[in-house]
Amino acid sequence: MQQSHLDLLKANDPEIHAALEGESRRQRLGIELIPSENYTYPEVLCTLGSIFTNKYAEGYPGRRYYGGQTYTDRIEDLARERAKAVFRCEHANVQPLSGSPMNQAVYLGLLEPGDTILAMDLSHGGHLTHGAPVSHMGKLFNFVRYTTDPTDGSIDYDEVMRLAKETQPKLVLCGYTSYPRDIDYDAFKAIADAVGAITMVDASHFAGLVAGGVLENPFDHGFDIMTTTAHKSLRGPRAGLVLCKEQFAKAIDKSVFPGLQGGPHMNTVAGIAVTLGKAMEPEFKDYAKQVLVNARTMADAFLAEGVSLVTGGTDNHMLVVNTEESFGLDGKVAEELLDTISLTVNKQIIPDDPNPPLKPSGIRIGTPAATTRGMTEDHMKHLVHWMIQTLKAPSNTALHASIKSEVETLCRDFPVPGIS
Ligand SMILES: *Cc1c(COP(=O)(O)O)cnc(C)c1O
Repeated sequence: MQQSHLDLLKANDPEIHAALEGESRRQRLGIELIPSENYTYPEVLCTLGSIFTNKYAEGYPGRRYYGGQTYTDRIEDLARERAKAVFRCEHANVQPLSGSPMNQAVYLGLLEPGDTILAMDLSHGGHLTHGAPVSHMGKLFNFVRYTTDPTDGSIDYDEVMRLAKETQPKLVLCGYTSYPRDIDYDAFKAIADAVGAITMVDASHFAGLVAGGVLENPFDHGFDIMTTTAHKSLRGPRAGLVLCKEQFAKAIDKSVFPGLQGGPHMNTVAGIAVTLGKAMEPEFKDYAKQVLVNARTMADAFLAEGVSLVTGGTDNHMLVVNTEESFGLDGKVAEELLDTISLTVNKQIIPDDPNPPLKPSGIRIGTPAATTRGMTEDHMKHLVHWMIQTLKAPSNTALHASIKSEVETLCRDFPVPGIS
């Protein structure tokens, strides 16, 4: 952010300016461990606060409904070309305003209301937009939801196949918000092929790890559609992307605009282009590798102390800790306790959770943001040690205060990109 712009904000809207300063301090002096969050690039912050926010660009490059599109066409073309290169896919739409509309655009563009979609249950790690009854999509389409295997918490592919044969979905959807393992795309493809369904993966959480080459690329396994947010492991602006085979390109583009949205947010599209440019650099591969190494280090450190993890570990960027079993604390209490030592996690419902969603049995921890700050294995071990000490002594406020100051000391060595 330009200092002159901040000075103007301070002079003309001190309340908003104060909140911005407070958030900046919170981000600098605490560590973000929510797996869906990250610290974006300074260059992305620059595009988000840029004059592209002034411009309407309804339509697609070369086919717009407003004049003055020389530069908007340029950035959208770059974003689309880079997306195709990064994910090795035939077509990219970079206009969805966020993750939820990107999934809506796929369902509404390729299916008819009432059609059946097979997807992962929210309480077993799926996303709201994967047909949770409270979501509007859950009212429009007939979602059949698969759950995970009660013995080990992993996806039971035989059971998914059985459900597919029984319910004949038009679309088979995989992807998750809370599942610490990779996906067997060949198994999902075989399930979809058995019933003639379209294959879709919502890679919102882990697209950065696919881009960095450390998790499987669904397009290498013949998948039709991949959706992803740009703001999680990809480290970009808040936005959604739909990537697909050429045969779905027209239907997807029509569904995003004019089907679902009006003008795209061109400042965000510029940010997506920058993000994807970064994802093509060799350093991004190192980043993705370190995200995984950090997550495994954390998992090993927790397991060594007898802490219970859903599925017993991790293959990706996140861990789901059963705090009820490990510490006798529900996820809400655990989240609040870790807040007091400036580590931000989120309470998380675990498979077949006996507790309600606002007081669930676990927490979710992720490494993308801490890795962006440059933290490595040793720091992960410290973080786990501090978390365990805090959760084992929930009323020892003196201990919490001393850990909090250690966290702040660590933070000073690892500045947040874009915050000075
Ligand atoms: C985060 C997420 C979304 C939704 O993204 P929003 O930008 O919050 O709308 C969709 N699907 C999955 C799997 C996600 O993790």
